Amino acid sequence: MPEREPAGERVYRGIPVAGGVAHAKILRLGQTNHDIPDHRLTEAETVAELARFQQALVETRRQIAEVQHRVKTAMGAHEAGIFDAHLLVLEDPTLLDKVNSAIRSGTNAETAFRDITSKYAAALAAMDDDYLRERAADVHDVANRVLGNLLGVVSEADLSRLTEPVLIVAPDLSPSTTALLDRSKVLGFATDAGGKTSHTAIMARKLRIPAVVGLGDVARRVHTGEYALIDGHGGVLTVNPTDATLFQYGQIRERRAALEHRLADLREQPAITMNGTRLVLAANIEGPADIPAVKESGAEGVGLFRTEFLFLNPAVSPDEEQQFAVYREVAAAFAPAPVVIRTLDLGGDKLFAGQHHESNPFLGWRAIRISLADPAIFKPQLRAILRASAYGNVKLMYPMISCLEELLAANRMLEVCRAELRQEGVPFDEKMEVGMMIEVPSAALIARALAPHVNFFSLGTNDLTQYTLAVDRLNARVAHLHTPTHPAVLRLIQLTIEAGHAAGCWVGVCGEMAGDSAVIPLLVGLGVDELSATPAVVPAAKFLLRRLKLAEAQALATSAMSCDSGEEILARSQALAKSVAPELFNS
Ligand code: PEP
Ligand code: MG
Repeated sequence: MPEREPAGERVYRGIPVAGGVAHAKILRLGQTNHDIPDHRLTEAETVAELARFQQALVETRRQIAEVQHRVKTAMGAHEAGIFDAHLLVLEDPTLLDKVNSAIRSGTNAETAFRDITSKYAAALAAMDDDYLRERAADVHDVANRVLGNLLGVVSEADLSRLTEPVLIVAPDLSPSTTALLDRSKVLGFATDAGGKTSHTAIMARKLRIPAVVGLGDVARRVHTGEYALIDGHGGVLTVNPTDATLFQYGQIRERRAALEHRLADLREQPAITMNGTRLVLAANIEGPADIPAVKESGAEGVGLFRTEFLFLNPAVSPDEEQQFAVYREVAAAFAPAPVVIRTLDLGGDKLFAGQHHESNPFLGWRAIRISLADPAIFKPQLRAILRASAYGNVKLMYPMISCLEELLAANRMLEVCRAELRQEGVPFDEKMEVGMMIEVPSAALIARALAPHVNFFSLGTNDLTQYTLAVDRLNARVAHLHTPTHPAVLRLIQLTIEAGHAAGCWVGVCGEMAGDSAVIPLLVGLGVDELSATPAVVPAAKFLLRRLKLAEAQALATSAMSCDSGEEILARSQALAKSVAPELFNS
């Protein structure tokens, strides 16, 4: 239960992750595995409790059937079949008998259901058989829905049915849920957990939803229906804001709107420094729905297409044809500008249905490791990307390469796909560029050995920082240590750029650093050729680039390389950015 807080304005400070101000009523999302009441029932109460449990089952069946219907309409009967497994869990006579008899003997429905389904799921998870192990996820899913219905809390799954604008406050939000938020109803969100480069935060910036994360235990301190204001720039959640606070934020909003107006004028202008150095300023996307935002931002094509988002929400992964249609649409939309399509980067915080629990998912079954282990996943994607290359300027990129062998194995698989397509007479761009992310320190350190096998490197500074500094990018408690300007990270960036350029590769940055006005001067000074950022921040990045002198940025980079403090390096880069584009830092 939320704790009682004093009346009046309450201010909570967290980590700002997506700019903008939003004011609306709070919708507090429940987390069904928390706050489960545990009490004994009198004999008289058990009858009503059994009926309440039945009612929750009926409601859950109705919800699942509705989701199944939506999936069937969108993707076909086969794909919708997965929900039959969910319905079967709800009809399992042994499970239901056990819960009913626990209620009859005086255990409340939530506790009885949670305890029994947890045992079921644990038993399934321990099975040798892959199929049965995957059923544990079904039991979890269904159990969460039933518990949500028993507790009357709104779950992530219900967000599609909002009827009025809200600010979501939750312990956490998954990236896949955030990706599906209805922008017209969800005006902002605030979470207890999270860091600046979590995919939930990245998604919020993409959707331009003002967001604050890392608020500790705020979800326990607020109530659904309270009015609140989210300042996604300052990282503040103000509950019951006073008129004075609302007025102050109203002014900030006006200043930002005026600045955005100015930035929009640059849309058709090139990303060129004051002395004429041309950079590629591209955008990061998750799917074709982002095409209009990229065009509006004035970005030059796509520097990172995170294709895993195509796999996160549907019940069944898209096949080669479905992927081809998506990649072709994006390639054609931007031709002749480049579109860098990254192969699957599932895992970490981007969990897919049926993925097994791991203690360290960012160090585990993730990205290229999954693809290389399963040609049934990798080959259709490579073929689809190759085929799309006939319709635009497509470049293919591998995520999370940590050693030469992985890169060579990925290239071998690509070569097999090329040969197949040639044989089948299917057109593709024989000169399609192939590159890799540099986001594991080992890859940066051996960049010289990797460079001959690719056309480009793209620095994934979110993970590079996480892995170099041993700082979980999702963990709010260590978020202050996630410093992409740390001298160790800068050395790896520098090594990568030098090795790439020596071998004739271009080098870009597609981590969140690339869109951060405070550090762009540093990246330019270090010699990057491309920056790719979420469309929302592209106009500001272009504004800054066009006012930057390369010599000043280079002098900054030289001084940064002999500085031992990440904070000091950030301060120096920000000072240069502020001196050339103060407008970006005033509101
Ligand atoms: C990165 O790690 O910087 C990156 C761009 O990849 P992702 O954020 O998708 O992990
Ligand atoms: Mg990454």
